[in-house]
Amino acid sequence: MTQHQEDTIVALATANGVGAIGVIRLSGPQAITIANSVFKGKDLRKQASHTIHFGHIMDGDVILDEVLMSLFVAPKSYTRENVVEISCHGSNYIIESIIKLLIKHGARAARAGEFTMRAFLNGQLDLSQAEAVADLIAANSKAAQQAAMQQLRGGFSNQLQALREQLVTFASLIELELDFSEEDVEFANREQLRKLVHEIVLIIGKLIQSFELGNAIKQGVNTVIAGRPNAGKSTLLNALLNEDRAIVSHIPGTTRDTIEEVLNINGINFRLIDTAGIREATDTIEQIGVQKTMEKISQTAVLLYVYDVNALSATDLTADIAELVKPSIPAIIVANKTDLLAPTAATIQVQLPDGTDLVQVSAKEKQHIDELKQLIYQRTVKGQLSADETLITNIRHLEALQKTEQALMHVLEGIQTQTTSDFLAMDIKQGLHYLGEITGTVTTDDLLDNIFSKFCIGK
Ligand code: GDP
Repeated sequence: MTQHQEDTIVALATANGVGAIGVIRLSGPQAITIANSVFKGKDLRKQASHTIHFGHIMDGDVILDEVLMSLFVAPKSYTRENVVEISCHGSNYIIESIIKLLIKHGARAARAGEFTMRAFLNGQLDLSQAEAVADLIAANSKAAQQAAMQQLRGGFSNQLQALREQLVTFASLIELELDFSEEDVEFANREQLRKLVHEIVLIIGKLIQSFELGNAIKQGVNTVIAGRPNAGKSTLLNALLNEDRAIVSHIPGTTRDTIEEVLNINGINFRLIDTAGIREATDTIEQIGVQKTMEKISQTAVLLYVYDVNALSATDLTADIAELVKPSIPAIIVANKTDLLAPTAATIQVQLPDGTDLVQVSAKEKQHIDELKQLIYQRTVKGQLSADETLITNIRHLEALQKTEQALMHVLEGIQTQTTSDFLAMDIKQGLHYLGEITGTVTTDDLLDNIFSKFCIGK
């Protein structure tokens, strides 16, 4: 799809606020001409692409700033349009003045994500790659950065695109059969079609499965810490965070009615959620606290149940585990305060449910905390993560893949039951439609608005 945009857009590309430098970006057919009209230095219109020029931004006779102009001549730019990046001094006043001046000379203020939208519309990126740009900017852990980078580099979209093209060929062969419906001909070899669809369904199934991990990587893995009062939950939280307290501990879009901190283990962010102690409810407010804890536990990706080895009987421990540990959620039983145990004391033995681990620690003395961390990682990420692993991290992709899978299952059923060409064609088309939504072969204005409006301005 190639669409040329008429107007030239401008926005600050670096973060808002005072900085050493600010980068203002212009993109569009007039980008170089407009930049040149406010620039005192070389004639930018006569310079080669990918060159940088020193000079002054002039508002009439007044020097606004000393700048560097970076030139990118279409189509060799991010948007495939003419692009100029002006590196100026990072004062709000200077930046605002330059942008206003550029608008006076014919540019228009860019909307959120408009540069990347142009890159998409001009065929520089497909839709899932464009979305990866936003993910990359938002990435706050190594794993999130890797997943976004993988997607930006084509990741699964190249693979899906190739399969989609093969499917398109089959769809047209089957459509051809419709023209000869009187004659009972079969242009599309059903066995080959079945094989192809089967292959696509397998790949899609794997991608769908990868969402759980992909989403966890992007959003952080919910890790609830629960246990009775004084079991040492807060101390454990602090011990876990001790050296690895995340620099960015606030992830937007989270409700923070419980204490939540971000812990990075092996490049993955875990959101540690400390909860009100269970079983301490003596009044209504406390009851609400316990209720909330139970709710948090039901939504967590992994549960850390902490107990005080010196204070809890085997019976109580068994009762707590029975109440809190559910088969669907990986749980780690953390036997705490082992530093207080006499060396000869036998630890209590209880029957652990399947899939539950027990680790003995001292939160206060920070003993075996690393062991616990690795266990948390293993129980949630398992062995699945590698740098070239393709992961779905985007709910829009997940939904499109699920719908594609459904349509393709119908195709497989249709082939099996030797259904008529028109039904087969319909299901294939449906599958193609949803598959196309991921890479943007099929788009609507609403979809694009929805995606790009979430970007920041200047990207
Ligand atoms: P919470 O109510 O579960 O959050 O428990 P706290 O973390 O506030 O701990 C309760 C008490 O137990 C505090 O006095 C802690 O210092 C103490 N504590 C916690 N962990 C340990 C530990 O591993 N060893 C010892 N000796 N004391 C601990």
